[in-house]
Amino acid sequence: MIVKPVVRGFICTTAHPTGCIKLVDDQIDFVQQRSPLPGPRNALVIGASTGYGMASRIVSAFGAGAGTVGVFFERPSNSKRTASTGWYCAHAFDERARRAGLATHSVNGDAFSDEIKAETIEAIRSEVGNVDLVVYSLASPRRRHPRSGELFQSTLKPIGQTYRSKAADLNTDQVVEAEIEPATEDEIRQTVAVMGGEDWKMWIEALQRAGVLASRATTVAYSYIGPELTRPIYRDGTIGQAKRHLEATVKEIGELLAPSSGRALISVNKAVVTQSSAAIPAVPLYISILFDVMKEKGLHERCIEQCYRLFAEHLYSGGPVRPDAKGRLRLDDLEMRPDVQAEVAARWERVTTENLHELADVSGYKIDFLKLFGFELDGIDYEADVEIDPE
Ligand code: NAD
Repeated sequence: MIVKPVVRGFICTTAHPTGCIKLVDDQIDFVQQRSPLPGPRNALVIGASTGYGMASRIVSAFGAGAGTVGVFFERPSNSKRTASTGWYCAHAFDERARRAGLATHSVNGDAFSDEIKAETIEAIRSEVGNVDLVVYSLASPRRRHPRSGELFQSTLKPIGQTYRSKAADLNTDQVVEAEIEPATEDEIRQTVAVMGGEDWKMWIEALQRAGVLASRATTVAYSYIGPELTRPIYRDGTIGQAKRHLEATVKEIGELLAPSSGRALISVNKAVVTQSSAAIPAVPLYISILFDVMKEKGLHERCIEQCYRLFAEHLYSGGPVRPDAKGRLRLDDLEMRPDVQAEVAARWERVTTENLHELADVSGYKIDFLKLFGFELDGIDYEADVEIDPE
């Protein structure tokens, strides 16, 4: 098939198989061009096929030489339709890791379920014995609770008041006014159930019960705070409530791990273009301005730079971790630098449809978005017929 991007709203329904392999290769190259890292012996990455999870798996394996088990929920191809980008990326990772002599195993299924937890535990036992790092990097719109069976949907809404904000319509390149009604109590509850900390804790309990968590293990989950501009929709909205819950769960998990000298941490990462962030109202416009400012200041980072820095400067620096007052590692330090935020806020104030391309790197955002699906990458022949079902 000759595969072209088919974009619907904030998702692309196709993925380019060769492009996805290149996405993985480029991140492996990034890591291999830097010094080898101290790191885990074996890592479990939950949400390992795209975004921050894939970068964490690549840094663990190709930076620190770790065996990895990755869990994700991705769609395989059929004769008419490409697989999802994460499916191709995860397969490319497995192939590259095997070729490099690194233990690797991937589990494709619903990480919230007891069945996938059990399958993953079996894979850890048989492939690597135990894990000393657990990265929790899920971003999901829904979760079926493994005990009650209730299906929770997460929503991206403000709490208490209607949200009105500038936003970019990336189909028409216009600055528009977004308006979102506040969430109900039940929507808040459901979002916390999907993206809060309950499932992270269930994973750690299950791994501990099964005896596949090494002593002195580290677990880290990813969070986001962001600027004042997106505060009503992000940090003070439904997703922010879920992130607060996730961040509070770190204490309970830390207590579970204390007897085996393990540690639980939250890493607050910077805003990047991923499938998840594209879905958050106003965030694509914010990221387009932010990236322009950060590139101008020589501060630009993607998932792979962030994860490399997380390992090198925080998790495995050899010294004590340096958390903020609330106990969180702050990988968003450059994004939140006062000079960066002041420039973003000034541009945000001024941005209109007329000056959008001057004040925001909208073209760069769109290219980064298509790259997530294996398009717009150098060195790929997008007119070539490719096998969409390589298995
Ligand atoms: P992403 O959409 O790129 O990746 C999500 C991963 O979760 C994929 O591997 C997907 O397969 C997996 N997944 C989703 N539902 C699943 C399920 N039911 N079972 C198993 N796997 C499932 O997302 P991302 O942006 O990398 O986000 C990962 C984490 O990083 C999230 O907690 C997010 O809040 C956080 N974070 C993101 C940003 C950002 O700007 N994107 C910034 C800071 C923190």
